[in-house]
Amino acid sequence: MRPAPSAAPSAAPSAAPAADTGPTRQREVLIELVTLHARVLQRMPVVQGLLVAGLALVFIDKVTAPVFASWAAFALGVEALRAVVATRVLRTLDSIDPTRVHRGFVLMAACAGAADGLAAVLFLPRLEVIDQAWLGVVLFAIPAAGVAVSMSSRYILGAFALAIIVPATVTWSMLHPEHRSVIPLGLLYSGLLILVAAESERLLMRAVLIRRERDRVVRDLERSNADVRAAQMRAEDAAQARARVLAAASHDLRQPLHALSIYSAILAANPSAATLREVGENIDQIVRSLGHLLGGLLDLSRLSTGYLTPERRLFALDAECARICAELRSLAEAKGLSLRTDLPPTQLCGDQMMVGRIARNLIDNAIKYTDRGEVSVSLSRIDDHAVLAVADTGKGIEPHEQQRIFEEFYQIDNPGRDRSRGVGLGLALVQRMSELIGATVSLASEPGRGSCFTVTIPDAAPEGGATSTSIATTPVPMPAGTRIYVVDDEQDILASTSTLLTMWGARVDTASDASAAVSLYERFGPPALLIADLRLGGHEHGTALALRLRATWGEFPVLITTGETSSEALRETSAAGFPLMHKPITAERLREMIGRALVPAA
Ligand code: ADP
Repeated sequence: MRPAPSAAPSAAPSAAPAADTGPTRQREVLIELVTLHARVLQRMPVVQGLLVAGLALVFIDKVTAPVFASWAAFALGVEALRAVVATRVLRTLDSIDPTRVHRGFVLMAACAGAADGLAAVLFLPRLEVIDQAWLGVVLFAIPAAGVAVSMSSRYILGAFALAIIVPATVTWSMLHPEHRSVIPLGLLYSGLLILVAAESERLLMRAVLIRRERDRVVRDLERSNADVRAAQMRAEDAAQARARVLAAASHDLRQPLHALSIYSAILAANPSAATLREVGENIDQIVRSLGHLLGGLLDLSRLSTGYLTPERRLFALDAECARICAELRSLAEAKGLSLRTDLPPTQLCGDQMMVGRIARNLIDNAIKYTDRGEVSVSLSRIDDHAVLAVADTGKGIEPHEQQRIFEEFYQIDNPGRDRSRGVGLGLALVQRMSELIGATVSLASEPGRGSCFTVTIPDAAPEGGATSTSIATTPVPMPAGTRIYVVDDEQDILASTSTLLTMWGARVDTASDASAAVSLYERFGPPALLIADLRLGGHEHGTALALRLRATWGEFPVLITTGETSSEALRETSAAGFPLMHKPITAERLREMIGRALVPAA
């Protein structure tokens, strides 16, 4: 029963158009076919039993009982064997090789047909002409029924039909030489049956394709339903987070403002010098913490609106961490903590500012939440990731709080929201910035024993192949007399920026709106650098103005400043490729950005 290895492709149905005959589809059709055929084969012994019984009633006396009994045993045995094999196939459907099973079914169909064909060889010579005709009709009818049994396999049908028709017609023509034409007629009849089977094979293929398509549509629908549900949940989460942030922010803003109004009433009452000093110090403290809160909110807003694109530059992560540790060391020492560092040289390609902010927040927290022992900051490398670990021997964090501390404004143990103990935005920013640069943050902590925050930062591919640290960290000196135009509708900003740039040796001209800026170009030509605010009061924003001036005066470097965190103008600025500076801008940052902007022109 073992089929010839080379027969695989030819035994498979191939009625579908070329485009529809992918191997998977072919296999699926074949599995469908052998399954249907196997189910019918399980009933075939009963059908064959009825045929044998019918033939016995008519012919048993005429062909003698032993001959009939031998034939009947053979015919029923073959059908029984087919039923057993079919049952086994149906039990192991998941693991069968459908091509092999199909070949086996073809072979067994030939045997089953041959059993019926044998009836012609054995019985016809022993019968009268009228009985021969009866038997002939029965034998011709059996292959037609085989179309249904074969379940659209022209190979099964062909094997079955030919195994009956060939011996039957050959025997007939030997008994009746004048009827030799019965052989070609029998073959023609078999051919027609095979064509009918081929047609059903095509129908089966189409049915399978339709089912596949239906399954795919259902799967797609389920997937898009899941996407919609996920998006809905994300939107609900975001709305809840926004409401939480707004509530906490308005509370945290209202308290210091309330305190400030009380202090202003005290100041108005002409207090003593000692009270004045105390009030001054408190006001300073309040303004500082307000600054922290606003800075944190601004960062959060920038991170949420997606306008912050991480930079990809090579920098020394060890030097960045060492600088932060040096700045925070006095804080640690004031609390009697030792700040240990293990910072082997670690070059990283990524956003230095964000990585630095992440490190600073973690180290600052470690010092803040540790009363005795030490804080250690270490760096290591795993493949193309840098790993920053900040460990402390502080109070630790309960397991159920370890997730929540990354939420905005979530603080443990600060129900009175004492602002001197932070505002609860540090870890939320660490989390958001990490997500933005593709880093992961993990926390291991045991209450009473300490915590260890580990940040795994991937090495990003350098932008434009830049591999030098010098551009990122060292501002290019500004040549004396560099002509800079500053456009801003805020007079204070124009005046202060102009003073600072002049101090650095630049020749500065200012304009408070678009038309004044155009006049500068008409009088002096294009500058070495244009610094424009995004919102200019009129209809035109800074980026649109810079693009218009460039269209007239050719290329010149542009820096855009803004206090906005989300707007169409910001999107246009990103699209134009102009460097964007978010206010408040420190002098160092301004100097660094000017240095970078002047590099191509230098
Ligand atoms: P903040 O420090 O401003 O309160 P964070 O978002 O930085 O806000 O931290 C949230 C909370 O997580 C803190 O209130 C603190 O209770 C807890 N936390 C953060 N870092 C540590 C640490 N290293 N050890 C113990 N608790 C910590």
